[in-house]
Amino acid sequence: MDKLGRRQFLKLAGGAAGVAAAARAAGGIAAAADEAQVSISRTSRRVRSAAPSTCQLCQARCGIICFVEDDRVVKIEGNPLHPGNRGKLCAKGQAGLNLAYNPDRILYPMRRTGKRGDGGWERITWEDAIDIISARLGEIKASGNRNSFVFQAGTMTMPRFARRFLDAYGTTNAFCSVPSSDTNRLMALAATWGEETEISDLGNARYILNFGANPYETYFYHLPAVQRLIQARIENRAKLVTFDVRLSNTAGKSDEWYAINPGTDGLVALAMGNVIMKEGLHDEEFLSRWTNYSVKDLAAHLSRYTPELAGDISGVPARDIIRLAREFAGDKPATTISGTGVSMRDNGMHSIRSIALLNAITGNIDVKGGYCLPRSYALKEPDPVPPTAGDAPELARSSVLPSKTIAHSVLPLIKKKGAPVGLLLTYMFNPAYSNASSSEVDGILRDERLVSLSVVVDITMSETAALADIVLPDTTYLERWDIETGPALGLVPLISLRQPVIKPLGESRSFNDVCLALAKKDPDTSPYFKFRTVESYFKSLVSGLPGLAKSGGWDYLRDKGVWAGEAAPVYRSYSREGFNTPSRKFEIFSQGLADKDVSPLPVWEPIPEYVKSNGQGLFLVTFKWGVLTSSLAPSKWLSEIVHDNPLWMNPETAKELGIHKGDLVKVSSPAGAIETRVRLTQGIHPRVVAMSGQVGHWGMGRVARAEKFNSQDPDTRLVWWKEHGHGKHANTVMVHSASPVTGAPGWHDNVVKVARV
Ligand code: SF4
Repeated sequence: MDKLGRRQFLKLAGGAAGVAAAARAAGGIAAAADEAQVSISRTSRRVRSAAPSTCQLCQARCGIICFVEDDRVVKIEGNPLHPGNRGKLCAKGQAGLNLAYNPDRILYPMRRTGKRGDGGWERITWEDAIDIISARLGEIKASGNRNSFVFQAGTMTMPRFARRFLDAYGTTNAFCSVPSSDTNRLMALAATWGEETEISDLGNARYILNFGANPYETYFYHLPAVQRLIQARIENRAKLVTFDVRLSNTAGKSDEWYAINPGTDGLVALAMGNVIMKEGLHDEEFLSRWTNYSVKDLAAHLSRYTPELAGDISGVPARDIIRLAREFAGDKPATTISGTGVSMRDNGMHSIRSIALLNAITGNIDVKGGYCLPRSYALKEPDPVPPTAGDAPELARSSVLPSKTIAHSVLPLIKKKGAPVGLLLTYMFNPAYSNASSSEVDGILRDERLVSLSVVVDITMSETAALADIVLPDTTYLERWDIETGPALGLVPLISLRQPVIKPLGESRSFNDVCLALAKKDPDTSPYFKFRTVESYFKSLVSGLPGLAKSGGWDYLRDKGVWAGEAAPVYRSYSREGFNTPSRKFEIFSQGLADKDVSPLPVWEPIPEYVKSNGQGLFLVTFKWGVLTSSLAPSKWLSEIVHDNPLWMNPETAKELGIHKGDLVKVSSPAGAIETRVRLTQGIHPRVVAMSGQVGHWGMGRVARAEKFNSQDPDTRLVWWKEHGHGKHANTVMVHSASPVTGAPGWHDNVVKVARV
């Protein structure tokens, strides 16, 4: 790009408000990069401005810079000021603009005309849409059962503004998903150290035990995590050991890979803890001072988990468990990471507690290079704050620990309850595709006796939107406001701004604006929504941070995109006031779990489905590619890279079943069956088969379905991959099962049959 002076640029901009804002943002970025200038594009010769914002395509929430020409985003890059991603961006983040300009994007509100799911739609006005929804909310309120309004979101966190609206309305049935629907992790860590997640200080670690996570491709904190992992591998010569049923990219780049038996990671962690305690390699000081269980009793509890027992059950040789335990205890600082293959199982909560315990035994809790507490700012909601409607959602009360983060269990719970839901509001969530037992979910969404009015807010006609009564056109993350307070992979708390870098396309409106419009219609909710605009809400949300105000407040955020109040991490943060638990200690023994008749100590329990299968059958696990998620399927760049999902199978297993390379096979379970080709590889455990889960869409627009079509975007005529197949929908054969403790789906506990077609 050619360079243009800032003054010259402002003159050119001619005072147009939008351009001036972009210029201010551009100035901020340029200043950050020590070059106070903006640019014109070398290719288009147009003024190219830059505006910082925050990616929302996965939980890593990277800082981005959006380059805009004529109110059109032409390029997205990483924000070098962001302490998480430090200027880097993954393929998904770069392809975000494909979502904004997808020719099949929904651009105006619609109401169905025929039977639910028949595909007939008519365009309606926003006023009509808001009137219909608020009339239904009024009817529900009049019925006296506000829980008949059910909200489900898949944004990996409850949208702050929506939560305010839902509380003000008074429904407890407000659900969202957490990173990869990882409720078991959240519950486990909350019970252990009072925070719902962990941040492993990978960049400073010397030894990393990886239980089933795949940061080289995909992870809750993908890009910020993997760059720190690579840094540790190069700068610290850190050792990486991976336990995974599949040779993921991370397993392949590890020093050692163990194709562990599924669902046994927690057992290996407990056995390693046993070795460390027995050999006196534990951190006596941390255990005695900062945990709530005696060292002697802990050693006695762990003694039953011998390396030999763990070796027999997990398939990891006992001698390796002993060696790795010694290395983990000796080569400090060390940490663990773990993935959903560990947590999203029936025994996931205990497995995560067992892995956290291993870090505590070795004194690696919240130390440099260790297993750290998350850092974030607690933002004060602007007054008046609505009273919370209740933490235990009415639909989930049959669980021992009712949770609002079990979005993937909401529809089965509605069916189980059998009482009609007056309004189901679905935001950025596609359970008709992404839930297990997807044919059952399809039936629930079609059934007007179970779901009386279904409203979906999305940017494309997802499989769930296609079964709705009203579809509202959402903005993309490039067209709306939000504030993110994490994750802080650099271990300093931060505030990251998401701001509209382009005007919303068509009649799309942010969901925050929808909540504001609905709230203002109801005398019960309107007192809590005195904000003139959504921007003014977010502005007042961060106004209470004195450090930010000193740095320049809202204008600073708009210029730089991110603000981090501390220059460097403060480790052993618990030493000031203790952990956020009832005992103020790291709770090896959880009284909260004991009170609910759940084992208060970390234990290992076998997966019931595996016990039932008695060694027969194959276990199906799904995995994510680094360049695609199911909601990114409309991206032409990403779908061109990944559009198929053969079944990974070990050659030894294939031989037993008479299956050859490339054969068409039928994968079946009680939930359904699919046919796909086999990919033979040594990179999979012999008792496990695996498929990726982001392809095989029947909704989400024509790019996602690999259809070639004419549009203003000439690339849509170049879609070539349909003839190679656009993949199979793996969730068809996943059986929905929910943990009786947390209600979270046991995503990886599926036993399937595979036969040649
Ligand atoms: S890792 Fe990629 S998709 Fe996730 S927030 Fe960062 S840029 Fe976006």
